[in-house]
Amino acid sequence: MEPRLAEILERVRSARGRVVALTGAGISAESGIPTFRGAEGYWVVGSRNYMPTEMATHEMFEAHPGEVWRWYLMRFGVCRHAQPNAGHHALADLDHALGDRFHLVTQNIDGLHLRAGATLARTSHIHGDAGWVRCASACTGELFPMPDMGERGEDTPFTAADRARLSCPRCGGWLRPHVLWFDECYDEEHYRMQTALRAAATADLLLVVGTSGATNLPSQIGDIAWRRGIAMVDVNPEDNPFAARALSMRQGFAVRGGAGERLPAIVRALVDG
Ligand SMILES: [Zn+2]
Repeated sequence: MEPRLAEILERVRSARGRVVALTGAGISAESGIPTFRGAEGYWVVGSRNYMPTEMATHEMFEAHPGEVWRWYLMRFGVCRHAQPNAGHHALADLDHALGDRFHLVTQNIDGLHLRAGATLARTSHIHGDAGWVRCASACTGELFPMPDMGERGEDTPFTAADRARLSCPRCGGWLRPHVLWFDECYDEEHYRMQTALRAAATADLLLVVGTSGATNLPSQIGDIAWRRGIAMVDVNPEDNPFAARALSMRQGFAVRGGAGERLPAIVRALVDG
């Protein structure tokens, strides 16, 4: 390991510091899950091509709920077949080793952190979780487990039986995926925004993994770390705004590499010997 990185991690370890990990699509890409933000996320409704930023909206769900569900069921199928990688397992090890001194903030909805053994109470899914659904009319804030919809391909039609399975058990209206849409705002009730910000405000190390911080809440977390002058380590195969920020900080370091490749050694250095 690079000497300066080892020194930063050792300082956090010996101070029994608090660690916040912030993860994004990059760690899941190593498990074969595409971002669905680019061309692979295109979806045809009627005679039009829609971008993921148009599909994943409340507006689209209001207009074409069955089509939005068909798109999600295709995506969720990809997530279900993916397996957690060494990066997810390393973060789960850190969670168990540090206990309440650890918090994970993830932008990923694929459930791979939990499947690797992350503790739900110490994980903020700030963009939601594909394993859950809730009432689209918010007749209740309750979450229900995602119903088993069988194997789905891009051409699988949406049937009346699918509609019945995706009905709210309280009011009979549509269930929606428990994910944050592009035309919606972060909140505490569903997306644990305040919990994530509070964790960043008390952390001694921000470990950023596989995200470029394109959305608002992750970049706020980076701002908090920068203002507080805590240690910050960015793990990413590519250059990104978090790496630039880490490099501008006294206790910052940018690791060029994948999560599966680099996180296990970083976690070993942070865990009490
Ligand atoms: Zn309802």
